[in-house]
Amino acid sequence: MYPLGISRLVSKGNRPYKNNLLMFLKFIFSIILYTVVSLAGEFSILFTANINGSIENCGCGPEKLGGLGRIKSFIADYTQKHKNTVVVDGGDYFNSYSFPVLNTAMLKALKTMPYDIITAGDQEFIEGESFFNRINSEVSGRILSGVSPELKTRAGNVELVFCYYLSPVIFRYREKPRFPVLPEFPTPAGNSNIVKILVFHGNLNDAEKRTRQIQFFDLVLLAHDQQKGSWKIKNTPVVGAGGDGEYVAVIKAEEQDGQWNLNIRFEKMNERWQEDQQIKAIIKNMKIYTRKDEQ
Ligand SMILES: [Zn+2]
Repeated sequence: MYPLGISRLVSKGNRPYKNNLLMFLKFIFSIILYTVVSLAGEFSILFTANINGSIENCGCGPEKLGGLGRIKSFIADYTQKHKNTVVVDGGDYFNSYSFPVLNTAMLKALKTMPYDIITAGDQEFIEGESFFNRINSEVSGRILSGVSPELKTRAGNVELVFCYYLSPVIFRYREKPRFPVLPEFPTPAGNSNIVKILVFHGNLNDAEKRTRQIQFFDLVLLAHDQQKGSWKIKNTPVVGAGGDGEYVAVIKAEEQDGQWNLNIRFEKMNERWQEDQQIKAIIKNMKIYTRKDEQ
């Protein structure tokens, strides 16, 4: 797919030129322009959600999937091969119940994880306000929350805006923390060239009820709801990454005739992905503390 400007430049190259230098410069310019345009036409999002404090592979289930160390290795491998990638966690990264030793280790690990965007789900408030403030300061500038409900980023030449919604419905069965700011349903700012993505932390049913508002968005990343899959609400694609770090959703977007075509798959976090050494060390250290607690 050559945009009009490119094909004109290329066809001019076939005409005889008196000035070889000019021809050479035009040739170089057309290569640069094509490279820029081709980069503008694609990007990827790696999406995790509901890791639920599963710092390591539990060794359970038929395929023994999961573990932060594997997720980190997979992200490193993918982003090395695909430069235009944004890495997002949709929240509920921490354990669903207060477990300070584990959640402190999860926070240490989070600092080493190459997330561009981290979302404050309800489980991010489980250890209280001071712990939440620690998360905020550790991943400063990268956290979607009631305080910063919109984050802009780039994937190559593609500009993306990520908007945050923490559905109040999920606090029916869970104590609502006193300190977070529950955001209004977002209306993304910016012009039509910006790819607009909603990180919806709530249930799929709840997301469906908001169909009209969701029409503002090019893509909805669903977290809290632990379903793994992709759906369409009216014309908006919705992707859920599953739970317990067993899968990473890989969303590859390619531009075609002004539309983004999405290719969505789910990478299994199995033994193919080696445990990252830094995460291994954090787990080892955590176990020493856990044993001290038990004595
Ligand atoms: Zn949640």
